[in-house]
Amino acid sequence: MTMRSTPQLDLPAPMDRHLVVAEIAAVAMAAITLAALVFSGVRVADNPSFVPAVGCMTLLSDLLTAILLLSNAMVLKDRDPLRLGAAYLFSCLLLAAHLATFPGGLSTGPLIGSSEGSAWLWCFWQGGFPVLVLGFVFGRSSPLRSRDIPLAIAATAGTALLLTIVATAGSDWLPSLVQDDRYNEFMRFGVGPLLFVLSVVALGAVLFRRRMRDAVSIWLSLAMLASSLNMVLVLAGGERFSLGWCAARLLNLVVGVAVLVALLSNFIDQAQRAQVMNNRLKDLIATDPLTGIGNRLALDREMLLEWKRARREQTPLSLIMIDIDLFKSFNDRYGHPAGDRCIAAVGATLAQQAKRPADVAARLGGEEFVVLLPNTEEAGASRVADRVLAAISALNLPHADNPVGHVTVSIGVATCRPFDPNGNVGQFMEVADQALYRAKSAGRNQVCQSVAVLDAPARIC
Ligand code: GH3
Ligand code: MG
Ligand code: MG
Repeated sequence: MTMRSTPQLDLPAPMDRHLVVAEIAAVAMAAITLAALVFSGVRVADNPSFVPAVGCMTLLSDLLTAILLLSNAMVLKDRDPLRLGAAYLFSCLLLAAHLATFPGGLSTGPLIGSSEGSAWLWCFWQGGFPVLVLGFVFGRSSPLRSRDIPLAIAATAGTALLLTIVATAGSDWLPSLVQDDRYNEFMRFGVGPLLFVLSVVALGAVLFRRRMRDAVSIWLSLAMLASSLNMVLVLAGGERFSLGWCAARLLNLVVGVAVLVALLSNFIDQAQRAQVMNNRLKDLIATDPLTGIGNRLALDREMLLEWKRARREQTPLSLIMIDIDLFKSFNDRYGHPAGDRCIAAVGATLAQQAKRPADVAARLGGEEFVVLLPNTEEAGASRVADRVLAAISALNLPHADNPVGHVTVSIGVATCRPFDPNGNVGQFMEVADQALYRAKSAGRNQVCQSVAVLDAPARIC
C-alpha cells in the first residue's frame, strides 16, 4: 500500500431525483384537488383544532424556510435567496396575523380585530406572496451589502404590520367579504379571481423563467402549483369549513414545506460534498505529486501511529531507507525531466514492493524514499530490502555514470520494538539513515542493516 486514503462518499445524484419526487407530489396534489372539488361544498364536521393545528404547522414551515433562505443570503452574499426569504417571512407574518384574527385560530374568538379583518388578511397574504415570488423570479442575482438583510426584514415586517392595521382597525371601511361563513362577496369584488390569477402568473413565471434549474426552482414550482390549486378550492368551496376550504388550508402547508424540503436537501448535499472535498484534500496534502506515493507528512503521520501501535502490542517495527545512487550525475547527464521520470519509476516500484496492507511507501524528498513495515522482524525487513534492490536494478534504467550501467539504489534498514510512546521516532529514522550511509560507504547498490535492540530505546544505536 502507498498510503492510507480516507473513505470517500459518493457525490449526491443531480436534479433528476428532485424532479421525480416533485412530479409525483404534483400529480398527487392535482388528484386530491380534483377529488376535493367534487365535494368542495360539503361542510365537514367542526373540528376546533383543525385551523390552529394546520395554521401553526404552516407558520412554522414558512418561518424555517425564511430563516434558511436569509441564512443562505448571508453566507452566499447574494440578493436572490434574500428576495425569496422575504416572501416566506411575509407569508409567515401575515398568516400569524390571520390566525390571530380568525375565530378559533389562536383562541375561541378573534384574538385581535374581527372575523371580517381575518378574511382581508387572508387576501393580503394570498395576494402578497405571489407578488413577492414574482419579485424573486424577475430579480437578478447580485451582491449583497451587510445592511440589506436587516433592511429587508424591517421592510417585510413593516408591510405586514401596516396590512394588519388596515385589515383590523380599518375593517369597517373595507368592503365585507364574509357573511355567515360564506364568502360569495369575495367573488363579487373580483378579489378571488385576482388572487387566483396572481398565483397562476407566479407559477408560470417560476416554471418558464427559472426553468427548474436547481432544487429551489423545482420545489418553488410545486409550491406555486399548491398555491394555485388552493385558490381553485377556495373559490369552489365558497364557505368556511367546507371540504374544499379545508383541503385548501392543507395545500397552503405544502407551499411552505416544499421549499423547506429543497433547502434541507441542499444542506445535506452540501455537507456530503464538503466531506468528500475534505477527504480529497487530506489525501492530496499527504501525497507526493511526482510519484503518487505518500510524502513526508504521510510518513510522519503513519510512523507515529505505527510506533504507538507497536509499543502497545509489543510488536517489531522496521524501516527501510532508500537513496538513488549517483543521482546528481544522472540529472547532469540526462537532464532534470529524465531525473523526474526516474524518481517516479522508483516510487512506483516501491509502492509495488510494499505489499502488506499496513506497509507504507513514501518519498522523503529529492531521491530519498522510505518503506515503513509494521509488525516486521529484521529477517522480514531484510527480505523486503533485497527485493527492492533487485526490483530497481530490474528496471534497467540506463545510467552511464553508474559502474553497473543502470540506475541502482542503496538501502539502510532498521528494526526496533518501541518502548517510549513519542520519544524515539526521530532516533529510529537516524538509525536507518546511518545504515544507509554505511551502504553508500561500502560501495553503493547494496543493503546495510542496523542491529535492532528490542527492549530499550536508549540502546537502539
Ligand atoms: P549518492 O549516490 O551518494 O546518493 O549520490 P547522489 O548524487 O545521488 O546524491 P546527492 O545528494 O549529491 O544528489 C542528489 C541529487 O538529486 C541532487 C539533485 O540533482 C537531485 N534531485 C533532488 N531532487 C530532485 C527532483 O525532485 N527531481 C530531480 N530530477 N532531481 C532531483
Ligand atoms: Mg540523497
Ligand atoms: Mg543519492
